[in-house]
Amino acid sequence: MRIAVLKETAAGERRVALTPETAKKFIALGADVAVESGAGEGASISDADYEAAGASVASAPAVVKDADIVMGVRAPDPASLSGASKGAMVAAMFDPFGQRDLVDGYAKAGLEALSMEFMPRITRAQSMDVLSSQSNLSGYKAVLAAANTYGRAFPMMMTAAGTISPAKVFVMGVGVAGLQAIATAKRLGAQVSATDVRSATKEQIKSLGAKPIFVENVAGIEGEGSGGYATEMSEEYQKAQAELVSEHIAKQDIVITTALIPGRPAPRLISDAQIASMKTGSVIYDLAVVQGGNVEGAQADTPVVKHGVTIMGYSNTAGELAPDASALYSRNLYNFLSAFWDKEQGKPILDEEIGDAVRLTQGGKVVNERLNA
Ligand code: NAD
Repeated sequence: MRIAVLKETAAGERRVALTPETAKKFIALGADVAVESGAGEGASISDADYEAAGASVASAPAVVKDADIVMGVRAPDPASLSGASKGAMVAAMFDPFGQRDLVDGYAKAGLEALSMEFMPRITRAQSMDVLSSQSNLSGYKAVLAAANTYGRAFPMMMTAAGTISPAKVFVMGVGVAGLQAIATAKRLGAQVSATDVRSATKEQIKSLGAKPIFVENVAGIEGEGSGGYATEMSEEYQKAQAELVSEHIAKQDIVITTALIPGRPAPRLISDAQIASMKTGSVIYDLAVVQGGNVEGAQADTPVVKHGVTIMGYSNTAGELAPDASALYSRNLYNFLSAFWDKEQGKPILDEEIGDAVRLTQGGKVVNERLNA
C-alpha cells in the first residue's frame, strides 16, 4: 500500500494534506508514504520533517508512481496521476458541485475519487469532517482579519483618559464557522449578536453569551434541511429577515457572514442599501465570498470600500492558518481511512454508509447519487 502526497498547485494554497504526525500513523498501519519535495513548505513543514517521520521525499512523478492512495487538500489534475495504480483512491476536496468537469475527468481516468466535503454529518464521522475542521479555523480568522482592518478597539476600555465603547459584532449564519466567530469576538471583548435560519442555533448563540436576532412568526422558520444543513427560505421569510437585518445592521461595527446552502449559490444577506446604512469605518467579512458571496459587491481577496464600509473576504480563509489547518485536515484523513483499514488486505475497505456518501467516481463512472440526481 503506497500513499502519495503532492504539493498543492492551486494559487495561494499553503495547506498540505498530510503532516509528519499522520504520516507516522499511516506508516504504523503498514503503508509506505511518499511526499513531493516542498509539499509542506507553506505549512512550515520541511522535507526533513517528513523524512524523520519515515516518509520518502521525491519529485511528483516518482511520488505518484504506483500509488494506491493519493491525498490532496484540493483534488489534483487527474492527468498528473497517470502513473498511479489502476483505480487508485484519491481523497481530497473536489468541490463536486462547482467542478463537475474535474469529477468527469476522474471518472475517465478510472480513478476512485473520494470527496472529503461529502462526508456525512453523522456522529461517527465527526472526526473525519474536513468542512468542520476548516470552518472552525475560518470563523476564528475572519474575526481577526476584520478586527485588524477595523480602525478601533474591540473591548470596552475604561482609562484615565476616558472610556472606549466595545465594538458591536453581528454574525450571520451560525454553523461551525459562525459559532467560532461568536466565541472569538466575545474573547476579544466585543458585544456580539447573531442570526441564522435554523431555530436550533438560538440556544447555541445564547450559550456563548451572544444575543440571538431572529425572525419570529413567519412560515419556514425551521430552515433545517437534511444533515442539519440549511434549506432555501420562503420569500416571506426572506423579506422579514431582510427587514430585521436592516434595522440591526445599521448599528453594527463588524459583520461576519457565513451563510451557505450545499449545492447552491450562497444566499444574499446584505444589500448595497444595507451597507450604505452602516457607519463609516465599519467592516464586513464575507466568508461565503467564493460561493457567490452573502454580501453585494464582495470580492475575494480584494477589500472593497463602499459607502465608507470595508467589505472583505479571503478566498481561502482556513488556508491563512496553514499549519493548523493542515494538521486538522490531515487528522481528518487519517481518522477516515484508518477507520476502514483492513489489516489482512493492508488497505481501507469503505463501508456502504460512508463510502457511498463520499465516493464520486469508480470503475470509469460518476457513481455519486448527489451528482447523478
Ligand atoms: P454551513 O457552512 O452549511 O452554513 C453556515 C450557516 O449558515 C448554517 O448554520 C446555515 O443554517 C446558515 N444559513 C444558511 N442560509 C442562511 C440565511 N439565509 N440566513 C442566515 N443563516 C443562514 O453550515 P455548517 O457549519 O456546515 O453547519 C450546519 C449544521 O451541521 C450545524 O448544525 C452543525 O452543528 C452541524 N454539523 C454536524 C456535524 C456532524 O454531526 N458530524 C458536523 C459538522 C456540522
